[in-house]
Amino acid sequence: MKSSETSKHPVIVIGAGIAGLASACRLASQGEKVILCEAAHTYGGKVGEIKNKGFRFDQGPSLFTLPELLDELFVDCGKNPRDFYSYYQLPVVTKYIYPDGLQLKAYANLEDFKQELINKLGEKKQDLDRFFKHIEQVYDFVFPIFLENPIREFKKHLKSSWWESFKMLTKIESFKTLDASNQSWFKHSKTVQLFNRFATYNGSNPYRAPATLNVIPHLEHKLGAYYVKGGMRKVVQAMYDLAVDQGVEFRFNSPVSQILIENGAARGVVINNAEVPAKAVFCNMDINKAYPVLLPKERQPKLLLKQEKSTSALVFYWGMNLTETKFDVHNVLFSKDYKDEFDCLSKGAVSDDPTVYVYISSKTDPSDAPKGKENWFVMINVPPNKDQNWPGIIETARKNILDKLNHYFKEDVSAFIEMEEVLDPIKIEQFTSSQQGALYGNSSNSMFAAFLRHPHQNKSLKSLFFVGGSTHPGGGIPLCLLSAKIATHAY
Ligand SMILES: Cc1cc2nc3c(=O)[nH]c(=O)nc-3n(C[C@H](O)[C@H](O)[C@H](O)COP(=O)(O)OP(=O)(O)OC[C@H]3O[C@@H](n4cnc5c(N)ncnc54)[C@H](O)[C@@H]3O)c2cc1C
Repeated sequence: MKSSETSKHPVIVIGAGIAGLASACRLASQGEKVILCEAAHTYGGKVGEIKNKGFRFDQGPSLFTLPELLDELFVDCGKNPRDFYSYYQLPVVTKYIYPDGLQLKAYANLEDFKQELINKLGEKKQDLDRFFKHIEQVYDFVFPIFLENPIREFKKHLKSSWWESFKMLTKIESFKTLDASNQSWFKHSKTVQLFNRFATYNGSNPYRAPATLNVIPHLEHKLGAYYVKGGMRKVVQAMYDLAVDQGVEFRFNSPVSQILIENGAARGVVINNAEVPAKAVFCNMDINKAYPVLLPKERQPKLLLKQEKSTSALVFYWGMNLTETKFDVHNVLFSKDYKDEFDCLSKGAVSDDPTVYVYISSKTDPSDAPKGKENWFVMINVPPNKDQNWPGIIETARKNILDKLNHYFKEDVSAFIEMEEVLDPIKIEQFTSSQQGALYGNSSNSMFAAFLRHPHQNKSLKSLFFVGGSTHPGGGIPLCLLSAKIATHAY
């Protein structure tokens, strides 16, 4: 194909997840003709929605952090984000409930949260101040050079000299596990458990993942956690509206079965046995599937594909015929033995005493449930799919979750469930093509895992860009937005 012919073709984006939508918007705003091909009948990928019997549930993400990254996408496309969506801060980020009955509130106001840790767990003010200062410094260091930039830039820093690399990795606490670091900061094991939980925000294990992940509580408690008006589905609705506004053409029910490579460059895709020529291709499919499925003849990044996957999720969506006052919007009921919980996950199993997360958006937006009722999103972390006996795991987990809730409420909670849907790793894999149903691509369960994420481009495949939670800088909405920004800037 002549280059003059090629330049007339559109850029094709494969997948309308967060990163696919963001890439499409950015490319269209740069003047490209963009066609977005999505296998499903709708946009959003993991950011789905369930509507049943008058209840509305966010199917996937529930917590919105770094809103400025989404706002920036709209501004970069010449639009006012407030014309598309808005968000606000809840007074309490999370209510934590421990097995012995102790409860504490992580207030949005950081000083109030610190005071709660002092009052309830006997932590010292100066230790908390030092901890939050420390994680702010790590964040300020990591964000601009690692998260906002191509991974190659960070590797360049590391290659500068052995001593400089060592100093840098020490500074970002790569050599310590998250648990070891938190043990050194806090007096009480319950505070350690609370801060260890942040490893699960990218599907990792706090007893193996580096303490660098302490940037996550900085995000949540210093920079803020938000609620999107209308729920998290509104995020992708707003992005879809922006994409349409920018002229992106959507083709739903259009699974791409191959990326066409000619002379080392992407020249199109195959959909339903038909070739669609392209000037360039942006791939939002999980990298672990994209190589073997879409690029089977190309050299496979074997080391990367072999990496341990992040955890998946088991979610029960329960329409509850009650309104109760003991829960907040976001609630966590901790397990007795957190280490054992993660040991089970590492073995591909689920503990009989899992930590349970309950998200009830109808507490802040009553239109999400019929009058006098609530929408409970009840989630536990589960291992990625390795052909375990999922019906058996789900049945046991449901019973264990209900036992925990019954114990807390001192009554049979199941009597109030009037509608139920379930999400498990197999469904996540079927709906979004995420390898083994992992929520965040590869896990961060080793010191070097973060550096082993796939870059936005494979140097030997020109005109082909990779975006999304399985690529650098990682999973979760903010990092997926950053991956799209990095890749489209490089285009
Ligand atoms: C239960 C749950 C809870 C979560 N909680 C949070 C949270 O609180 N906060 C947070 O920030 N993140 C959370 N996440 C993670 C977050 O949802 C993901 O990291 C993010 O949405 C992934 O976006 P992505 O761009 O990688 O695309 P994905 O969501 O993985 O979507 C990829 C899209 O590509 C399409 N596709 C794949 N292959 C093809 C093909 N060959 N042809 C055409 N289309 C294709 C798929 O159908 C899909 O629509 C959660 C996820 C889940 C499931």
